[in-house]
Formats: sequence, structure tokens, C-alpha cells
Amino acid sequence: MKLSIDRDLCIGCGLCATIDDEIFAMDDTSVATVIAQPEGKNEITALDAVQSCPVGAILVEE
Ligand code: SF4
Repeated sequence: MKLSIDRDLCIGCGLCATIDDEIFAMDDTSVATVIAQPEGKNEITALDAVQSCPVGAILVEE
């Protein structure tokens, strides 16, 4: 699984980084970035963040 952020969609709410701060962080323009790709058990929390994003800005490639 590979994650990326649609920077045009992200509204900078910070929820993804709150849910999983090993995978997501906010950059200095308050847009989410992926700081590490999830592997194994980390995928469960990362997918929780994906599903929680209010604007669907976290993109998932299988
Ligand atoms: S949850 Fe979605 S909208 Fe909020 S910071 Fe993360 S990617 Fe952006």
C-alpha cells in the first residue's frame, strides 16, 4: 500500500497526523504530507486516517 496526499484537496485539519503521527505530518504550509509509508500492522492505523479524512485527500495505491 502506498499513500499520498492530494494537496489541492487537503484543508489542513490535521486529523490524519493526530491519528497516525508516524505516517502523516503537517508541513509548514499546513498541508498534510506522508513522512513514511505504512507496512504491516501500521496499515491498520493509516487506513483509519484515510477513512477519517473529511475531504478524501489521502490517496491509496494498492
Ligand atoms: S485529514 Fe485530510 S484534510 Fe485533514 S490534514 Fe489530513 S489529508 Fe488534510
